[in-house]
Amino acid sequence: MNNNASRFPGIYSIFLVLMAVMFLNSMLVPALSKQQVTEVDYGTFLTQLQDGEITDVTLENGKINYAAKDTKGKTALHVTGAWDDAELVDRLHAKNVKFTRVIPHENSPIINFLLNWILPLAIFMLLGQFFARQLQKNFGGKNALTLGKSNAKIYAESETGKTFSDVAGQDEAKEALREIVDFLHSPQKYAAIGAALPKGALLMGPPGTGKTLLAKAVAGEAHVPFFSISGSEFVEMFVGMGAAKVRDLFKQADAKAPCIIFIDEIDTIGKRRDVPGAIGGNDEREQTLNQLLSEMDGFDGRGGVVILGATNRPDSLDPALLRPGRFDRRIPVELPDLAGREAILRVHAGKVRMDGGADFGLVARATAGASGAELENIINEAALRAIREGRDAVKQCDLEESVEVVIAGYQRKSAVISPEEKRMISYHEIGHALVAAKLSDSTPVHKITIIPRTSGALGYTMQVDEGERFLMTREQILTRIATFAGGRAAEEAVFNTMTSGASNDIEQMTKLARAMVARFGMSGEIGMVTLETVENRYLGGDASLAASSATGAKLDAQVAEITRGCHQRALGIIRGNMETLHKLAGYLLEKETVSGEEFMAMLNGGEGKPAAVPATSAQGLGAK
Ligand code: ADP
Ligand code: MG
Ligand code: ZN
Repeated sequence: MNNNASRFPGIYSIFLVLMAVMFLNSMLVPALSKQQVTEVDYGTFLTQLQDGEITDVTLENGKINYAAKDTKGKTALHVTGAWDDAELVDRLHAKNVKFTRVIPHENSPIINFLLNWILPLAIFMLLGQFFARQLQKNFGGKNALTLGKSNAKIYAESETGKTFSDVAGQDEAKEALREIVDFLHSPQKYAAIGAALPKGALLMGPPGTGKTLLAKAVAGEAHVPFFSISGSEFVEMFVGMGAAKVRDLFKQADAKAPCIIFIDEIDTIGKRRDVPGAIGGNDEREQTLNQLLSEMDGFDGRGGVVILGATNRPDSLDPALLRPGRFDRRIPVELPDLAGREAILRVHAGKVRMDGGADFGLVARATAGASGAELENIINEAALRAIREGRDAVKQCDLEESVEVVIAGYQRKSAVISPEEKRMISYHEIGHALVAAKLSDSTPVHKITIIPRTSGALGYTMQVDEGERFLMTREQILTRIATFAGGRAAEEAVFNTMTSGASNDIEQMTKLARAMVARFGMSGEIGMVTLETVENRYLGGDASLAASSATGAKLDAQVAEITRGCHQRALGIIRGNMETLHKLAGYLLEKETVSGEEFMAMLNGGEGKPAAVPATSAQGLGAK
């Protein structure tokens, strides 16, 4: 509203000026340019004529204009009303006065028509266009006629000015994105083999971890047109406009291929559509999403249009967006580990004047759980403090002080973990990994980390299957349950206590054990009896499959027995490998993230060597 209000006076002031000019033109200018004319009565005119003072006379519109010499011989203009005077011509003749009658000015009918009809019409049309253009400006570049046009901006490389060197850490994400950049540089290389790149890659991770930055860096590296738009820009006032914007964006991109389309905060339009409790739904958002989906289906990967998305909330995305052929490549962008934090601090410290000898390692160690954006903020706070203290360079003490300020500031919102807790979490996670490694049927450990995640997990052990698995044997399920128990087992073995951190593990264990008994028929006591259905009961779950209360009690007892057995098994493994546990937990505590290769190398007696982590699509089962 404020926008419009400030614009309308602009139009009005133009009008005021126009009016003023017209007024001056029609009233003042003739008045100024005209000489003084004296109005006289007819008698005076006749007398003057008689006295020979009048030199010439013009009859016009029933008025007689004439020039007469006054007594001093000066000519003055006079006017008088014409009289029905038959002798006037004779008198004028007698006095030798020059006299004329002005011929009434007759325009040709065509000119009259033009002046009276066409000119006003033209003026109205011009004014109308002028107003329309103003309105268009006020309402975000749209009017009824250009509803289908959007204004997705083109960002060329020179405009983002970012490259991969601006992004510290995040090696896996960079690796995955570098492939896309390479494809855009030399598509023929890929075409020669017949490879098509995934159409879409989705950057997902907590806020402030550099997702937007990474996308800008891709644009900077790729030297191809870069269409950047935020999800919220698609959310429009009128139904159908968001969809029109999507259509237009893809049309523009198609014309500019090879190119990149970047949709930031894609969860704004990509929210899952089937959320229960949503009454009526959001037609506009749904239409926009549907349009996006159909556009993504509409072109093939060889065309050279790559779509990047970014989101903080991958879990809220509509599954349709994630299915193959759309955002089928998912790139996790996690909170930085120790080395990553140090690197990020160095990147941003490069932009301020540092006093030599700042210990970034120490700052990095003190900021477990901080995101890239928060680390950037720490550097900036330190620089501000240096200025307050009247210095011209940032010192170590500024950094340490600002860590405290920033951490105290965000302690409530993000988890910055105390050293003692970190130690416990390390043992817990290594407990999972150790049990998994020592049991045969288990899924290989891919990555262990104690970097807290926004989901609330304080650390996690990721296991990735070599291939896709459709069946699980009884042994594999038991192994999985024991692996979940490994975290708690390590706590008990080392600290002789239990923490609340195992709650999610216990939930997973219970679910698996319950499924074994109630659905998979894997318990000797109950046998092959289904005691519950998988289906949602709102979608027609079968009530006849519900356990009777007597069987229900037996079921619970069986579940408890299975989990107890698995827990004992895990505890046995931990107790038998205490030395390895200490070594690995110490290493994890120091590194914060350990890859599967490093873990296996250390487990088999070697020292942990920081191996290069190969890029993988991380879609493991997070065992918390
Ligand atoms: P996101 O989009 O993931 O919420 P941004 O990309 O907007 O986060 O990051 C915010 C800021 O944090 C960036 O502009 C950058 O200055 C800083 N930042 C985050 N991660 C990194 C990183 N890995 N290296 C360097 N700077 C980073
Ligand atoms: Mg962002
Ligand atoms: Zn756990």
